[in-house]
Amino acid sequence: MTNPTTTLLDGLNEKQLEAVTLPHQSALILAGAGSGKTRVLTTRIAWLIQTGQVSPHGILSVTFTNKAAKEMLTRLGAMLPINIRGMWAGTFHGLCNRLLRAHHREAELPPTFQILDTADQLSAIKRVMKAMNIDDEKFPPKQVLGYINSCKEEGLRAYAVDAYDSHSQRMREIFEEYDKQCQREGVVDFAELLLRCYELLSSNKSIREHYQQRFKYILVDEFQDTNRLQYLWLKLLAGTNNCIFAVGDDDQSIYAFRGARVGNMRDFEHDFNVQNVVKLEQNYRSHSNILDAANAIIMHNRNRLGKNLWTSAGKGEPIRIYEGYNDKDEAVFIVDEIKALHKEGIELSQIALLYRSNAQSRILEHELFSAGLPYRVYGGLRFFERAEVKHALAYLRLIANGDDDTALLRVINFPTRGIGARSLEQLQELARQQDSSLWQAACAKAGDGRPGRGLEGFVALVKQMQEESIGLTLAEQVELATRLSGLRDHYAADKEGEDRLANLDELVNAAIAFMNQDIGMPVDENGEVAMSMLAQFLAHASLEAGEHQADVGRDALQLMTVHAAKGLEFHTVFISGLEEGLFPHEQSSYESNGLEEERRLMYVAVTRARQRLYLSFAQSRMLHGQVRYGIPSRFLDEIPEALVKRLNTVSNKSYGSTSQYPAAAPAPAARPQASMPWKIGQAVAHSKFGQGVVVNYEGNANDLRVQVNFGREGLKWLALEYAKLEPL
Ligand code: ATP
Ligand code: MG
Repeated sequence: MTNPTTTLLDGLNEKQLEAVTLPHQSALILAGAGSGKTRVLTTRIAWLIQTGQVSPHGILSVTFTNKAAKEMLTRLGAMLPINIRGMWAGTFHGLCNRLLRAHHREAELPPTFQILDTADQLSAIKRVMKAMNIDDEKFPPKQVLGYINSCKEEGLRAYAVDAYDSHSQRMREIFEEYDKQCQREGVVDFAELLLRCYELLSSNKSIREHYQQRFKYILVDEFQDTNRLQYLWLKLLAGTNNCIFAVGDDDQSIYAFRGARVGNMRDFEHDFNVQNVVKLEQNYRSHSNILDAANAIIMHNRNRLGKNLWTSAGKGEPIRIYEGYNDKDEAVFIVDEIKALHKEGIELSQIALLYRSNAQSRILEHELFSAGLPYRVYGGLRFFERAEVKHALAYLRLIANGDDDTALLRVINFPTRGIGARSLEQLQELARQQDSSLWQAACAKAGDGRPGRGLEGFVALVKQMQEESIGLTLAEQVELATRLSGLRDHYAADKEGEDRLANLDELVNAAIAFMNQDIGMPVDENGEVAMSMLAQFLAHASLEAGEHQADVGRDALQLMTVHAAKGLEFHTVFISGLEEGLFPHEQSSYESNGLEEERRLMYVAVTRARQRLYLSFAQSRMLHGQVRYGIPSRFLDEIPEALVKRLNTVSNKSYGSTSQYPAAAPAPAARPQASMPWKIGQAVAHSKFGQGVVVNYEGNANDLRVQVNFGREGLKWLALEYAKLEPL
């Protein structure tokens, strides 16, 4: 009979084995990409449980994405024959959400508190600023948002922030008012989830001790990307007796712009008296050509802890470099290669197409779409972010909690019920006067009416929804909300509303899937379920908006930004748009250490590939409405020529004449800004595609392109000069 523990540890190298079986002490596993850090972390959990040192109940495991957390649980499930449902494994946000739900009273939150995603947060900030009469030219709301979040990520409340001049004092005031508004409405933003949870644990001794006694083992993946507050949170939970097992790679720290601190690694060694720093040096992911290229690139960074990576996998294929004469040419090349690879039997899901910025994906998507290749975009407009889905969720949020002003504002006049800007202002004024939520103000104003038009109708409608939803299953509640709200009728009456109706149906399906999922409800000490299924579902929708994908299970090419590719691996990887200004990103030149962070990002990108790596760039590219003439990224020069195969050479091509852009196009800086004759939302007619609505535009006077949603005919980009669109 085989010993189950040996089977578990089979195949680990000596260093990995050492890391997996370390005694109960804090440890840091510092190792390069593909050296098995995540595998070691997962195996350690399995080993701890299997050898009886801890039950799943006593483990807290933090990963960077929900996807990674799910993968880890699946792998553990396969390794261990026991139920791991009680285990707390998730992202910082997910875990804090769970903790706050269980102790909402102590955290001074309503049981149904809602989570604001970034778009909701921005609109909440705009509202506060409007109420405070603040000029949004002087204080751009996005900047305010960045400011508030970075304060919170440092663990700071408004009162604790330094303000030296009138501008920073004003920022601080907005921060303070914004927090008050959130509290009044019972909503929290992402950064608040963490801060609130941290404050709860630090101020409430009995809760803190409860969790300190529970989580004897805390394990953290991608430790290099933790921010200050996350680190402090971990420290609180660990207390003096528990140990933290942290794995990370300083060379893959790519979230400094969101407050991540590599310095946490050094602090960790010091604060936790780390005796064991294990370095893993064998890479199991990539062939040596790929690995050598990655090592050569990252060597150009000065600020490193330093480590080596080697592989026994052999040289493998050379790195392929392609130079497109423009972005379309680059995209066509990539699509042709993918088709060929697919023909050779490589699954599409094993191929990743990476880019530095989301804006680059459109032309790639366009070519993929024309070629009929199925693909999934990670990080584009996802299901839970679509307007109709957000509308439906807003009604559901009102069912759960009428005081949710953000939700109320989203749908108070959608579908339209004759509540104009003036009535809304009056309502906001009343709410301010009586220091209440908009919902309470609306109830006070409307009295009892019947569902229908106007404010009275809206109040009666929400009340009706709240009453009728009692006792229904989650899926029934979703169905009820989409129907009673009038959303279904609204889209059914709209000629272009078919897809939107389908998405509302899909939301009901999502609710059914959610009910059937074995999620493990957050339960408090008394075994009481701390939140309704509806509240859970709404939290899930906000937390997973970034990762939920349609078409699960279908073999599809993977499209994503390099940031989103962290921790993943693929048979073949394409990195596109390797031009100065794009990758490295132009913004990096304004920031200290910006270039080093870009280089780490390139290191992450290159090390995602197992077998084959393509690097490509284009001589000219249409971006943000302008033609840019690129020069090849410096990262290409940093790769030794011996590792590379150039698929084409510059001199063989004739530029300009074959370009899709006019050869005589003036330099980008000289071009006038876009002058768009219509507003977004303008209805137009096209001789072939019929009626549509303008949803986007780019380019400038000579080369203006608009994106039109033609409903059944789909989304199309049209050159204004040729398309002969008629405004309706
Ligand atoms: P990253 O830094 O990109 O997150 P990582 O260090 O977490 O990488 P893993 O994803 O854990 O690395 O492992 C990389 C690949 O190597 C995986 O496919 C993993 O299964 C494999 N691997 C790790 N260790 C071994 C081993 N001892 N034997 C065979 N394969 C291994
Ligand atoms: Mg990993």
